[in-house]
Amino acid sequence: MTKQSKNLILLGAPGSGKGTQAAKLTKRLGVPAISTGDIFRENIAKGTALGKEAKSYMDRGELVPDAVVIAIALDRLDAPDCKDGFLLDGFPRTTAQADALGAHLAASGRAIDRVLLMDVSTEELVRRITGRLVCKACGASYHETDIPPAREGLCDACGGALTKRGDDEEATVRNRIEVYNANTAPLAAYYEERKLLVRVASGAATPDAVFADIVKVLGE
Ligand code: AMP
Repeated sequence: MTKQSKNLILLGAPGSGKGTQAAKLTKRLGVPAISTGDIFRENIAKGTALGKEAKSYMDRGELVPDAVVIAIALDRLDAPDCKDGFLLDGFPRTTAQADALGAHLAASGRAIDRVLLMDVSTEELVRRITGRLVCKACGASYHETDIPPAREGLCDACGGALTKRGDDEEATVRNRIEVYNANTAPLAAYYEERKLLVRVASGAATPDAVFADIVKVLGE
């Protein structure tokens, strides 16, 4: 993979596999994976003011307001570890966020190189998310039937306890998908116009098959 194509966005609905692919890609490319959802969950766990504000939106499956998310994400992108690339998972989610991201990167002579769109049907998304298990300690993702851990309830990577995310309950999940369709899906056309969008065949494929497709698309 060439040096100039390491500023990446993973675009896709909740449950499309962004987090799973981000974990694999960050190892392969050696660039940090940045998840605004993870940043909020860390803040909720620590009981910060930001965490308290974000939680009220997250519990309902709504988006955290643009001004809050943009400040957090752009600040993270200025950290030294993002100098040679980054992988955004869950940001941007609105056109305003995408505009702010583009302007901020341009100001430091950077740009987005590729946007990987993970396309999955709504019913498959609901099935995946409602079965999702996440490690409390390291954040690794599993699925009750698709990607079960070797030992029930325990993370393969670190032995931590597996849990369900509070916002992974079916009614909230359906709302999160509606919010995605209304606010975030239009970003596919936004990045297509800018010739940055690449579709990844993530429908019924296994995580390894999706990863192989991404590696091919990126020309690794
Ligand atoms: P995620 O882990 O990416 O599914 O995000 C979980 C929740 O955090 C979302 O449902 C939103 O409430 C909030 N969130 C994360 N990233 C963003 C963003 N870029 N814009 C607005 N809200 C966000």
